[in-house]
Amino acid sequence: MLQWLCATCAVTGEAEKSADAIRETNLMEAKKVLIIEDEKPISDIISYNLTKEGFETEAAYDGQEGLDKALKTNPDLVLLDIMLPTIDGFEICKRIRERSNVPIIILTAKEEEVDKVLGLELGADDYMTKPFGHRELIARVKANIRRRAMTDIVGRSEANIKEYGNITIDNNLFEARKNGELLELTLREFELLKYLAEREGKVYSREQLLEDVWEYEYYGDIRTVDVTVRRLREKLEDDSSDPGYILTKRGVGYYFNRPE
Ligand code: CA
Repeated sequence: MLQWLCATCAVTGEAEKSADAIRETNLMEAKKVLIIEDEKPISDIISYNLTKEGFETEAAYDGQEGLDKALKTNPDLVLLDIMLPTIDGFEICKRIRERSNVPIIILTAKEEEVDKVLGLELGADDYMTKPFGHRELIARVKANIRRRAMTDIVGRSEANIKEYGNITIDNNLFEARKNGELLELTLREFELLKYLAEREGKVYSREQLLEDVWEYEYYGDIRTVDVTVRRLREKLEDDSSDPGYILTKRGVGYYFNRPE
């Protein structure tokens, strides 16, 4: 906690608002971020940094308050701590997802929570492990808001269905089917499958996938890619330990293969 505060203070001191930052801020005008975090000093610093970048912020200091605000105040993105009074972050995430598509970034206090966050398939869009820096947080918030805006636009304007052997990808409904049966994919799993399938046979490194599918240029954790590939394979493959669609090119990355 102390380490996190200090790390953040160190970067906020040097974070001058560049012309690019101002331009970008204007493009992302008045986006509202809900911060659900019970440690007020952490919440205050996050809020300070986001406000400086042109975001509006709203804070909730316990689980119930956070859930209520997430559902009633219509935020553009939610930053969600896990350990919270009244309702924990896992439950809040699930309950927000039942009602809303708002991007959710989970803030985990421990490295060990990451696997649980990913494994539970809560429907979160992203996670960050404390301590994290101000620049990384801002980059993730922007990427997730931009990504959701893009999928909304594509969803409205493009109606196309593509077939790759027995896999069908519906870019209008954001659905993938195998032999006509709907695959229960998260949005990110769907986007990863779509990205690789559209570039059939071409191998992509984890870093490249992080940049193109997650839209993280510098800050991403490449394990995120491995975990998402693993979960996608569990849903897509006949045998996830011997994949036929999403293949690994050892030492390079991943690619989509159309089975015979
Ligand atoms: Ca907490």
